[in-house]
Amino acid sequence: MRTYQLPLDLVRERSPERPVALVRPRSVSVAALWFQDNLKADVFYAVKANPSRWVIETLIEAGVRGFDVASIAEIELVRSVSHDVRLAFMHPVKSRSAITKAYFEHGVRTFSLDCVDELNKILDATGGADDLNLIVRMAVSADGAAYTLSGKFGVPADQAPALLLATRQAVKDGLMGVSFHVGSQCMRPTAYQAAMAQVGRSISRAGVIVDIVDVGGGFPSVYPGMVPPDMSEYADAIHRGFNEMPVSETTELWCEPGRAIVAESSSILARVDLRKGDALYLNDGSYGSLFDATHSRWPFPTKLVRDGEAASELKAFQFYGPTCDSIDHMPGPFWLPADIREGDFIEIGMLGAYGVAMSTGFNGYGEHDIAIVEDAPMASLYGLAPRSIPTVRTTAEENARKVVRLSRPKGKAGQRKKSRR
Ligand SMILES: *Cc1c(COP(=O)(O)O)cnc(C)c1O
Repeated sequence: MRTYQLPLDLVRERSPERPVALVRPRSVSVAALWFQDNLKADVFYAVKANPSRWVIETLIEAGVRGFDVASIAEIELVRSVSHDVRLAFMHPVKSRSAITKAYFEHGVRTFSLDCVDELNKILDATGGADDLNLIVRMAVSADGAAYTLSGKFGVPADQAPALLLATRQAVKDGLMGVSFHVGSQCMRPTAYQAAMAQVGRSISRAGVIVDIVDVGGGFPSVYPGMVPPDMSEYADAIHRGFNEMPVSETTELWCEPGRAIVAESSSILARVDLRKGDALYLNDGSYGSLFDATHSRWPFPTKLVRDGEAASELKAFQFYGPTCDSIDHMPGPFWLPADIREGDFIEIGMLGAYGVAMSTGFNGYGEHDIAIVEDAPMASLYGLAPRSIPTVRTTAEENARKVVRLSRPKGKAGQRKKSRR
């Protein structure tokens, strides 16, 4: 991987033909250190948020020793970097062969489940192993998250006590735990405390002793129109919630952050292949790294990366991606110099989570290059950059329009019920 001081240095040197993932490993280390220093929990990075090798390597260097994986491919990826780290297979629905392979070939000991059939499958596929850690995934309410994750997985409260009891009885020398996911991009720290109270009631009703409380992922990042509370409020809410749970002194606290570890670390450098009025046709789009810009209408922050002067006036643009599908449209608004034109490069920020990770090869596009850059991310929850996306400096009238437009996609994303993650 080549390192450039600035995205502009890369553009000057090689006017890249394919989109480039601009990555900032230091930002991943800083985020990982925040979790290790501020949350009294073992960190399991959720690999699906960004399964790049450099992310796994950077996290291991930063001291992260746990990875939340959901498939054999993710297990093999992490194992190709390290044989020592702990893997937790946290997909509540796994094939028999995946369980067997994970346990016998890759040393996976931690598995999640949300029903008794999956419990029996895990016991069966591991030959009744006595060293399993079994984690019951609980359904919790997900107010305050941009993406709900309870639609697909999690045992409902009325069935939870029986499953907790059955799982407790199945665990021999390993540990028994509970987990939940409050939903991705959770804007309300108290959602964790509320979920922990809900899970605590099920534990009391079941009358079981729980060895692990895993608060899952959901920790936010910064996007235009979405500036979350300070990360310390998340830590406080979780510690309060944990103190109030009916668990013992030795019960372990775990977490599985994905987005919050990687979101601010990467941008995409895309090229304008055509301009039609306020529409820019780019070489990356919804089938590439910009899934959320289409499906959740997130107006990611943008910067022109041009070797030369640009108009000081900013205009609102919409983007189209390179495929022939009309879904491949990103409404934005994306604020860029009014004189933007074919051949210009645009840096689209805050795409480290669920960006490159969502990329497909549809229509022959989707391949990208990768380069390290040394400048700061566009925004940061960890002090590397401002806590919010810088306000566009433009005429008062345009600014007023921008505020109105920016507030719309946030509401839409919040209302839309999704269970992709
Ligand atoms: C997706 C996922 C995560 C990570 O979620 P973020 O919102 O990215 O933090 C953690 N745990 C599980 C089980 C997941 O499915």
